[in-house]
Amino acid sequence: MAKKQFKTESRKMLDMMINSIYTHREIFLRELISNASDAIDKRHFRSLTDPAVGLENGEYAITIGRDKDARTMTITDNGCGMTAEELEKNLGTIARSGSLDFKRENKGADDLSVIGQFGVGFYSAFMVSDKVTVRSRAVGADTANQWESEGTDGYTVEPCDYAPVGTEVTLHLKPDTDDEKYGDFLDEYRIKGLVKKYSDYIRYPIKMECEHQQRVEEPENAGEDKEKKEPKYETVREVETLNSRVPLWHRQPKDIKSEEYDSFYTDKFYDPEPPARVIHFRTEGTVTYEALLFIPKRAPYNYYTKNYEKGIQLYSNGMMVMERCEDLIPDCFSFVRGMVDSPDFTLNISRETLQHDRQLRVIGRSIEKKIKAELLDMQEKERDKYEEFFRAFGLQLKYGVYADYGVKKDLLQDLLMYVSSREKKYVTLKEYAGRMPEGQKAIYYACGETAEAAALLPQTEAVTARGYEVLFLTEDVDEFTVQMLGKYADKEFANVSAENADLSTDEEKAALKSENEGSAELLKFMKDSIGDEVSAVRFTNTLKGHPVCLGSEGAISTEMEKVIEKMPGAEGDPRPKAQTVLEINLGHPVAASLKKLYAQDKDRVATYAKILYAQARLICGLPVKNTTELSDMICGLMAGEDGKGE
Ligand code: ADP
Repeated sequence: MAKKQFKTESRKMLDMMINSIYTHREIFLRELISNASDAIDKRHFRSLTDPAVGLENGEYAITIGRDKDARTMTITDNGCGMTAEELEKNLGTIARSGSLDFKRENKGADDLSVIGQFGVGFYSAFMVSDKVTVRSRAVGADTANQWESEGTDGYTVEPCDYAPVGTEVTLHLKPDTDDEKYGDFLDEYRIKGLVKKYSDYIRYPIKMECEHQQRVEEPENAGEDKEKKEPKYETVREVETLNSRVPLWHRQPKDIKSEEYDSFYTDKFYDPEPPARVIHFRTEGTVTYEALLFIPKRAPYNYYTKNYEKGIQLYSNGMMVMERCEDLIPDCFSFVRGMVDSPDFTLNISRETLQHDRQLRVIGRSIEKKIKAELLDMQEKERDKYEEFFRAFGLQLKYGVYADYGVKKDLLQDLLMYVSSREKKYVTLKEYAGRMPEGQKAIYYACGETAEAAALLPQTEAVTARGYEVLFLTEDVDEFTVQMLGKYADKEFANVSAENADLSTDEEKAALKSENEGSAELLKFMKDSIGDEVSAVRFTNTLKGHPVCLGSEGAISTEMEKVIEKMPGAEGDPRPKAQTVLEINLGHPVAASLKKLYAQDKDRVATYAKILYAQARLICGLPVKNTTELSDMICGLMAGEDGKGE
């Protein structure tokens, strides 16, 4: 029989399939099952107006058969079937999607779910087969027909014997290669896994004959010596339904118990812990969809590595079309797991590479709002749980504020928390701003390795002594985050170590200024003794009992410099540095001692300057470069070695 040629477009598509544009060949099964499900939908739909079209007895079902010896797999349905013309039109021409035609011709069919409206489905069979045979009998037809093809060189259509109404697709699997063991697709276990993964929620049963071992019960008194007897097993074949059929998200939230959500989540996302929160809603409007989302309690082990892949599963009427749709979830909420199901997609080429446009963005935006609202609700009503969540994912939220020039800062700012000087507990910015005393000009923060270290900073004490609360920033990203925020509730953020945190009155400032001017020569001498590491040495009147501290001028603080130093980059790259100022407490006896010594013993002032600078570095958690020199200097003073001691 003469082979017919595929239409040009179809040939191209087929070529792509054979050479697999899909990264995962396994999706062929999903495609064929979805076609079968569509065909049953159509038959069922027609039977509503023409009962003769419906099933006489039995149930609608999709059946998977396999024959390991012949290396074939069959997918059979009792749907609408195809006539010879339809086989020709539907399987010979890819550009024309039968499902869409059906929708157009049957206006009342709007709510009939036609999931295979995308166009490449059937040809995906050629990703795993070197020959595909389709036998089909259309509902009401007297004859059946067979369509067969071995790929791009064409196809045949001829009458055949096939008694039942519906379609049977037989795949002749390709020979195994080193890279791909096509024969594995016949394993019971593999098929079960694929159905669970991609087609679990197809509403018709997907059946397959499965094997299991069953113990053979021996009669009670058979045989004398019972101990020696091994239990006997026999292989039993039974037809099983492989899919669970009703997606949890299609059900009404009020009918779902929290244990059902929990076990669904733990099974599906391999998390041993139930989720912290479940978000389940349905939206109708520009885009109609259902979403079932989970906020985990704990971060997966690889969460903060580049191996972690974010994404929300995308379904179209119960069939998974994408395992991880990144467009549905912003990076700052990448910890959220779950699924979105929408019948509204207008996909055309590949479901795998779908770049899904406006609709996805609309859904993504509303999901983002829902997640934020849920988190705020948790923060308000279940504070302990929220703190546990924040310990796991707070870092991600902070990066989220900082990333992309702060586009998400308004979304995220109220979700942040910092430990503060007030109660040594987490406080939100809203809580902080809400309890600021009258006249407080800025939101103060101090940086340190730990909250305890930040609390011990001399500058922290100077600010808390005025009755102001100080937030402790302990993670690398923290200060970058607050700088990106810039302001909260109209108050600027101020590092207690920076010049803009100076809380002195105008008179105090003026007095300090004249002190510094009067000692300009001494201070310059000290700066020169220390070297380029400091941009200035100054007296200050804000420190309470502490003799020294490091302050900074300009946009880069000492903490930020530490983080920048740690960032990867070429050796010797010029990196932005903090302009460090060594501040000496004017009220401390050491200040008077320096002034006095400067007139008598400059060498000793130089030594003091170096020691004071080293101390200031140690106080704020910075390393001292030359520890031996420091030790020598201190011991020298102890021993009065320089011979000029009192
Ligand atoms: P799509 O399903 O996206 O329309 P396919 O290439 O998968 O594209 O299938 C082309 C057409 O072939 C379908 O639209 C449908 O009309 C027909 N078809 C495929 N499989 C079956 C089936 N099992 N029963 C009836 N018709 C089918």
